[in-house]
Amino acid sequence: TTVQPRRLAVKGLTQRFGGFTALEGVDLEVGPGEVVGLLGPNGAGKTTLIDCVSGNNRLTAGSITWDGRDISRWAPYRRSRAGLSRSFQSLELFDDLTVRENLLAAADPRDRAAYVTDLVWPGYPPLPATVVAAVEELDLEPLLDRRAEDLSYGQRRLVAIARAVASNPSVLLLDEPAAGLDETESAELGHLIRRLADEWGMGVLLIEHDVALVLANADRVVVLDFGRKIAEGSPAEIRNDPAVRKAYLGE
Ligand code: ADP
Repeated sequence: TTVQPRRLAVKGLTQRFGGFTALEGVDLEVGPGEVVGLLGPNGAGKTTLIDCVSGNNRLTAGSITWDGRDISRWAPYRRSRAGLSRSFQSLELFDDLTVRENLLAAADPRDRAAYVTDLVWPGYPPLPATVVAAVEELDLEPLLDRRAEDLSYGQRRLVAIARAVASNPSVLLLDEPAAGLDETESAELGHLIRRLADEWGMGVLLIEHDVALVLANADRVVVLDFGRKIAEGSPAEIRNDPAVRKAYLGE
């Protein structure tokens, strides 16, 4: 099974806060099965962009389309129901439920197989395939029957990532998923992101401070600086881009 193929297109995105321009005329697209990395120094506008796309910010100018349909005025819940899903940096888990119950609670409500199984089977319905992949890649098996409140900070972050894929989104917005993860966990996260794109055709917009993680796993990279797009290309092109090196390394 694959996720529904959908294309996210951001055009001329501009966001002003009072007299301050956080984003200016940014174009960006994420297609089915494509991992797009979003890089930029602190304050470049990355979080502002993801807030506009998920509906948590009202954009000043420009458009956000979903398979060609303008969704820039849609409320966040409507966007996520349409298959545009966001992982939050915060750790909104149900503390008194187990990890498995947390993952099931977030599962695709359109997945009828889960309900049928629930009727004929005592116990839990199976987890969606994308979540099973997340559980495998992020080594969450030993945690499935632990209560969320008993997990460490890092473990909660991993469960939050697994939860974000439970609704089988067409495009997944990941806001600094590697923050607080160690090197091994970051590498596992990279494998999972590639698997979601390659096996299910999920589009991923990956916002990360960890430049290496983005360059290792993205198909395409967009670089922001002071609210403007300064570069776009393959990881190899971005690595050698003079404007990027200047913004990042002060060259
Ligand atoms: P990044 O995620 O790339 O670090 P942000 O999108 O968080 O950057 O911030 C971009 C700029 O917009 C920053 O200078 C930040 O201070 C400013 N900014 C973000 N949100 C607001 C807001 N609600 N009001 C005023 N300024 C904001």
